[in-house]
Amino acid sequence: MNVDCIFCKIIDKKIPATIVDETDELLVIQDAAPKAPIHYLIISKKHIADIKGLEQGDEALAGKLLLMAKELGKKLSGTGSFRLIANTGSEVGQSVFHLHFHFLSGKKMSDF
Ligand code: AMP
Repeated sequence: MNVDCIFCKIIDKKIPATIVDETDELLVIQDAAPKAPIHYLIISKKHIADIKGLEQGDEALAGKLLLMAKELGKKLSGTGSFRLIANTGSEVGQSVFHLHFHFLSGKKMSDF
């Protein structure tokens, strides 16, 4: 828990969010400013700033983040196509420094 982190506050239920799924280690919420018809955030409950902050011992957590994307994909209609993005660093657009993947689906996304 990082007291200044908005995602830690959401995980702690101190700030409301629309929860899509929850496990012991992950929280999936709807993005407040969706960039696609389906735009979820798959958030690690452990406060890690970004992928670069992953350490030895986080292997299972890293795998569970990906497997959650797979599970969310199974619930999609049609072909089950989705895009997974983890902005890593402010220069590429990361604005919340707490490890999360964007799960996007429901439209064709040509740029990246
Ligand atoms: P990033 O810019 O990659 O760090 O992604 C952060 C994402 O968090 C952005 O897409 C924001 O729209 C989203 N976001 C920020 N605050 C909230 C919030 N309180 N509830 C839901 N999503 C949020």
